[in-house]
Amino acid sequence: MKIRYFDHAATTPVRDEVIKEMIPYFGIDFGNPSTMYYLGRNAKKAINNARKQVARAINSKTREIYFTSCGSESDNLAIKGFVYANKDKGKHIITSKIEHHAVLDTCKTLEKQGFKVTYLNVDENGFISLEELINSINKDTILISIMFANNEIGTIEPIKEIGVIAKKNNIVFHTDAVQAIGNVKIDVQELNIDMLSLSGHKFYAPKGVGALYVKQGINFEKIQDGGEQEENKRAGTENVAEIVGLGKAIELIYNEYDEYNDKLKTFRDYFLEHVQNKIKNIKVNGDLEKRLPGNVNISFDNISGGELLYKLDENGICASAGSACSTANPMPSHVLTAIGLDSKLAENTLRITFGKDNTLDDINYLIDTLNKIKSKKM
Ligand SMILES: *Cc1c(COP(=O)(O)O)cnc(C)c1O
Repeated sequence: MKIRYFDHAATTPVRDEVIKEMIPYFGIDFGNPSTMYYLGRNAKKAINNARKQVARAINSKTREIYFTSCGSESDNLAIKGFVYANKDKGKHIITSKIEHHAVLDTCKTLEKQGFKVTYLNVDENGFISLEELINSINKDTILISIMFANNEIGTIEPIKEIGVIAKKNNIVFHTDAVQAIGNVKIDVQELNIDMLSLSGHKFYAPKGVGALYVKQGINFEKIQDGGEQEENKRAGTENVAEIVGLGKAIELIYNEYDEYNDKLKTFRDYFLEHVQNKIKNIKVNGDLEKRLPGNVNISFDNISGGELLYKLDENGICASAGSACSTANPMPSHVLTAIGLDSKLAENTLRITFGKDNTLDDINYLIDTLNKIKSKKM
């Protein structure tokens, strides 16, 4: 059976050009970048080239990029690393209720260690309120961490405005941009972003490699002890091949930015129009304008996301009921709850996320299959 993949917010396939760049570093170029001979220097050079590629994509300096093992680690390192190093200045953090668990659970851990955390509400489209943000700031506030774009409903937060507020109040601003990379043009200087997390496997690089941007001059500590890799901010021998892959993938995705995002948006609009024509009483979650181009999040009136996924899977279709991280968890998604969906509607929710290898034929098949399932013909 042909597999049709509509879960690009969970992960993406590694593109061929990226694999090709990586292969030598598993083989002939296997050196440890911390060694001094040719093989080691060569590996170090490859990492620094990837660092340049990431820096160019977000308009930072090359030395402001640190490689990690994933987006979750980048979030942990940014938030814990920063607050541990700056706790003498204050112990209050502001975040939102719809963050990824890598941010939310990091904040929960910090609360147990004596930090104070404000979790901002969001409106029915998933936007934080700038007014509530301003009102939450106090003399103890040292960090604001708000995601660039939400992984479930695709809503893009008012990052520029948050950056202005953070700067004015002399508070450091971190953003989890794992979903935004490739789908939004990001200039960390123009947006006043002080720290930014990203992850390779959301933009056609492999799973298990991420990066963190930290603006020069911001003090943060390593959270994993060991060697002095990554300017002594992240211990552990570098994952050279995957770092090379991440660098290549971020360069490629921004080289083809317009074409890629136009394609995703065309798919999204086509899907929404046709699925709503065929199936009645569909509720679309998240904002329709300020939204990731490839994201669709919809709720049905009388079929659960779990049942839908099961039947879609029988027909070779991969999608998601909430976010992949919570599919083993029967609790309604914290994001859908935060935008005001009742537990029934939250349970009846399907997330479709398009990618660069999808075709119109795939999407017609998806619409047809959904319609047949919904009218109990499957
Ligand atoms: C996928 C994702 C993460 C986690 O990234 P990993 O590399 O899988 O650890 C963090 N935040 C958001 C918004 C994500 O979508």
